[in-house]
Amino acid sequence: MSTAFIGLGAMGYPMAGHLAQHFDTLVWNRTFARAEAHAAEFGSEARPLEELAQADVLFSCLPTSAEVWEVLRALDGQLQPGTIWVDCTSGHPAKARAQAAWLEKRGVQFLDAPVSGGTNGAAAGTLTVMVGGDPQVLERVRPRLAFAGKVVHVGPTGAGFAVKAVNNALLAVNLWAAGEGLAALKAGGVDLGAALDVINASSGRSNATENLIGQRVLTREFPATFALGLLAKDVGIGLDVVAEQKGAAPLLGAAGGLYRAAERMVGAGEDHTAALKLIEQMNDVELS
Ligand code: NDP
Repeated sequence: MSTAFIGLGAMGYPMAGHLAQHFDTLVWNRTFARAEAHAAEFGSEARPLEELAQADVLFSCLPTSAEVWEVLRALDGQLQPGTIWVDCTSGHPAKARAQAAWLEKRGVQFLDAPVSGGTNGAAAGTLTVMVGGDPQVLERVRPRLAFAGKVVHVGPTGAGFAVKAVNNALLAVNLWAAGEGLAALKAGGVDLGAALDVINASSGRSNATENLIGQRVLTREFPATFALGLLAKDVGIGLDVVAEQKGAAPLLGAAGGLYRAAERMVGAGEDHTAALKLIEQMNDVELS
């Protein structure tokens, strides 16, 4: 019984660390030095990608479903029937369905299992995991989800990615709306620390006001833990989820455009909270 983890980025590195503390865990990362560092830190085993195909549970955590396709195709011919592939990427529901079908032909079962809780939650092993796919397959891998604080089965294949995209679209809207409101308050001479103090004890509070803006924007630190480009990607997936249902979601549509603009003008690799730098430009104020 072995576990493998592909993609030791900001999330995957600590997630795979929790696995290695409980199970024999093989790891691979495109920049292989990071896999070797992981092995040294957590006692995992850094191996060539094709060797990870031997594991009975294979996790991936890559930027988008496109990179997951690249890895799947690289492993074609190596995958073992009976393996369960758990994709913790914030991926695309339609791609999840296509990847599940592709894997099924090779005897491999697929769960879309994106995570929420950020790099702090990954380090603490308290991530929320939202899972799409066969619930019986989830029960078989549930004991391996050593990085999770909460695991919820949300529906068939693709449902996990859909819930994740909507969650992150809400993060994007809340963050942006709070930034617009605070920009007006700043222009009017209000102390933003005091304003956040009030909002966080009032009905306008959100994760963005409670845990992000005070800590990352007002301090001007913008620590890069979750890339702006990845949040823009998630809002785009959320809009695809809406479009698939022919839904009416003008507010999410606006968020999609605003975050694409912020990604270009502020930088895809900046922390997602740096999107508020675009609001600062639009209003000629600094949120500090
Ligand atoms: P990072 O950019 O930190 O890490 C990306 C990982 O993917 C790295 O290991 C990178 O390897 C690897 N990778 C990139 N391109 C390829 C490729 N073409 N082939 C193989 N490997 C590749 O991303 P995060 O860890 O922040 O995010 C991963 C996923 O988790 C995303 O879908 C994101 O939306 C989601 N997520 C992120 C959160 C966060 O707070 N950061 C929170 C919740 C979900 P290399 O080291 O070589 O670059």
